[in-house]
Amino acid sequence: MNTHRNLTLDQIDRMSLLHPVTSIADHDRNGPVIYEAAQGARLRDAAGRELLDMGAGLWCVNVGYGRAELADAGAAALKNLSYQHLFGGASCPDTILLADRLLGLFADRAGAGHFARVFFGTSGSDANDTAFKLVRYYNNLRGRPEKKKIISRSGAYHGLTAASGSLTGIPAYHKAFDLPLDGVLHTACPHHYRFAHEGEDEAAFAARMVADLEALIEREGPDTIAAFIAEPVMGTGGVFLPPADYFARVQQVLDRHDILFVVDEVITGFGRTGQWFGTGTYGLRPDIVSLAKGLTSAYFPMSASMISDRIWQVLADTSDATGAFMHGFTYSGHPVGSAIALANLDLIEREGLVDNAARLAPRLLAALRDRIGDNPFVGDIRGVGLMAGVEFVADRATRKPFREGTAPHRIVSRHAAAQGVLARALPFLPVNAFSPPLSITAAEIDEAADRYARALEAAMPELA
Ligand code: PLP
Repeated sequence: MNTHRNLTLDQIDRMSLLHPVTSIADHDRNGPVIYEAAQGARLRDAAGRELLDMGAGLWCVNVGYGRAELADAGAAALKNLSYQHLFGGASCPDTILLADRLLGLFADRAGAGHFARVFFGTSGSDANDTAFKLVRYYNNLRGRPEKKKIISRSGAYHGLTAASGSLTGIPAYHKAFDLPLDGVLHTACPHHYRFAHEGEDEAAFAARMVADLEALIEREGPDTIAAFIAEPVMGTGGVFLPPADYFARVQQVLDRHDILFVVDEVITGFGRTGQWFGTGTYGLRPDIVSLAKGLTSAYFPMSASMISDRIWQVLADTSDATGAFMHGFTYSGHPVGSAIALANLDLIEREGLVDNAARLAPRLLAALRDRIGDNPFVGDIRGVGLMAGVEFVADRATRKPFREGTAPHRIVSRHAAAQGVLARALPFLPVNAFSPPLSITAAEIDEAADRYARALEAAMPELA
């Protein structure tokens, strides 16, 4: 109760907040779910109920909630140097050390020693905006001003600012916002389970997807295409793993047409796939990498853009002629975020959380398959590391989708919350996503799978 206005928090929320990615009408009817505290993989809501958060927030609380080490690092940084910008060559120790550490991690843990510099921002969306601007900048500086378009993929999620929201390939996010902006194209979604032709195996499907990409490039004119952007594993789209050979073939096409490769590791970075980076998991050779979420485990809003030698050389060589690099934000390289990111990386290393993700990956899939694999509406259970998706279909044999307007994954997700487990309903295909903190235990995975199975059982009358 807010004694001043004599209203409950629920009422004040409805009267005062515009919630991101929320139906205004539904929210007005149902009100908020208010969470008050969290520890490890468990959240506590305002009614005192405990829930297992199998989403780690929005795929981001990689080290789990309530880590004193990160709170202490943040508090010490706030007391020492609460703010410093990086404009005009100003700098600060932790931010310098963090940039160096990220370059080292990519070289050592992702086999990608070709990154030259790191640029910091505050969100995954702004990291992708930085990439959007950088590929234009790069081509303008090297005298290729006509090479500007960026190709993304249907089903991709790259954020929701005007530029990153345009790169996002999910129509629900474009509707009534007049997006995508000109100059952004979307090629086919490489999700084999849903989009393969009958009898088409993964290799043939990957070949077709890449042929579609190249046909789009040829149609538009390779001289007009600056970059291709991709998540190593498409997260929000539905946890789509790249088909075998897909990225190797994509890379050949990009090389052939002198097109930059922007890899969006906002979800996959920092252990999610059971390796440090998706770049290493899938042997990618990016020109720019976007990082956020796991960089600080969401204890501070922070993003990083890794910039390759190839781009850096052009920026550096033309610097005197171009003038200053006129891009950046008030909070770029924030000292508190940098201190928390360093403490977060220490924690991931000290506790072996990337290995934990790799070790528990089979457990997560097995726990789900064991408990719900026979359900007639569960079409596919897939994953890599600690990210998994459960895709619903009306008919398993034919993979027929549910009829338009039915959202089985939302129904199951609602029952899951009632059973004490959060499993997100995604906005592109009917998929529930699982991306728990990398610090989760085997027992917690089993407990979450038990609760989720009970939820699916309870949802059956609404699905039939
Ligand atoms: N890129 C990917 C792959 C994401 O999953 C997200 C967020 O979920 C973003 C970018 C956008 O990040 P933010 O919400 O921090 O702007």
